[in-house]
Amino acid sequence: MSELQKAFNPKDFRKNGHQLIDTIADYLEEVNDGKMPVMAWRHPDEALEDWNQHLTSDSSPEDFYKKIIKHSMHLHHPKYMGHQVAPPLPDTMLSGLLVSALKNGSGLYEMSPLSAPMEKIVMDFFSKYIGYGNEASGFLTSGGTLANLTALLTARQVKGFGDRWNEGNPEEKQLAIMVSEEAHYCVDRAVKIMGLGNAGIIKIPTNGKSQADISQLEEIYNNAIAEGKTIFAIVGNACSTSVGAYDNLEAFGAFAQKHNLWFHADGAHGGAAIFSKKYKSLVKGIELADSVIIDGHKMMMTAGLITALIYKNGKDSYRTFHQKADYLWENSEEEWFNLTKRTFECTKFNSVLEIYSLIKNYGVEIFDEYVTYTYDLARAFSKMLQADPNFEIAHEPEANILCFRILKNGKTPTELNELNTKIRKQLLHDGKFYIVQTMLNDSIYLRVTLMNSFSTIELLEELMDEILNISKQLDF
Ligand SMILES: *Cc1c(COP(=O)(O)O)cnc(C)c1O
Repeated sequence: MSELQKAFNPKDFRKNGHQLIDTIADYLEEVNDGKMPVMAWRHPDEALEDWNQHLTSDSSPEDFYKKIIKHSMHLHHPKYMGHQVAPPLPDTMLSGLLVSALKNGSGLYEMSPLSAPMEKIVMDFFSKYIGYGNEASGFLTSGGTLANLTALLTARQVKGFGDRWNEGNPEEKQLAIMVSEEAHYCVDRAVKIMGLGNAGIIKIPTNGKSQADISQLEEIYNNAIAEGKTIFAIVGNACSTSVGAYDNLEAFGAFAQKHNLWFHADGAHGGAAIFSKKYKSLVKGIELADSVIIDGHKMMMTAGLITALIYKNGKDSYRTFHQKADYLWENSEEEWFNLTKRTFECTKFNSVLEIYSLIKNYGVEIFDEYVTYTYDLARAFSKMLQADPNFEIAHEPEANILCFRILKNGKTPTELNELNTKIRKQLLHDGKFYIVQTMLNDSIYLRVTLMNSFSTIELLEELMDEILNISKQLDF
């Protein structure tokens, strides 16, 4: 057998595949009890050296799988409380494997006859919970960053006064968008990619709750118009990344309508609140948005990088990229089943199965339960921190994101920043908890995103004890 024939041989695949599933299942059982480190920290140079040695060493597939797991960040660990990435549901891991096996690029119906029908069904599911009507439609794309860029390209084409896609940005017109100063950096990046420069992004200051201050919208708008700018869109956070603040989407909707702007809701993280009976009021007004994005890998627990981009008026989605590609499409008609006409990607990863299968096997309840549990937990943690004079919270949590810090009498602001930074680093190196940090108003805060439905209030109490212990050891 040639090396290539050997590599394609189904017999090895069957054997290794069974081994792999067993290894992952063992891992899921083990990680759940929280005894292993969240991440076994080692210096990047040491890791590089190890993998270099491994590359040329003999190891069985089983040892290889176990080594990979050992040296990974463990999202399923109940003490994983770091960035906004959900532990994937086992169902989505299996869908991901099947999709990888078939590798049907989902851009063209001919190449993947299951994707477009499934995506249409999944989009109808999103539309229903957003509160859109029958005209809504959209598609899945690879991540919130790309989804925001795609939505803003549509916005410019629809509201940018002319055929901006073909004619570019006329020099006499400075096109611009309005967005909260708390927006994710990818919104900035999208504006720059569109060639609008610094002047193309107008930041709305936030109020004490890190929400865009809606009392300033008119003034900001009028000032920009007086400077000769042409505003075509306003972007609302649902919710913001650093503290999880929800902008007033109803007010944004009314403002957009008044000035004939495109209203885009960035719900990459917190858009999934549409599924929570208890918390859907946080996204009141989301149905007024012309476009909404929601990440699957954040609050919907998918294994793959999946973002839904849903348009209130599905027809708008065909206006983003006015293009001909003779070898792909026979015409430029609006065909719901040929997704490349509307998506950035050409070869598009077929990710819909992960969400379709969750909806089929568990229904909306699984998303409701997840959002509700993790949002509840952040509120409970916030109460516990406020009851302890050693700690301070930066904000009341609206989502499952909470920023807080340890205080110590007689310390200067700089010393407090140093203390909180050192504590975080120590936690990272010990591997007992994984949390992150952020800077708010020149102060360093510890930041948790409670992404794991196995995290409990008892574990959060343990985290507080651990932080106090480290603070004592540091002898600050
Ligand atoms: C995470 C996030 C993004 C970026 O999404 P990716 O899927 O990581 O590309 C955009 N906006 C908000 C509000 C986010 O929280």
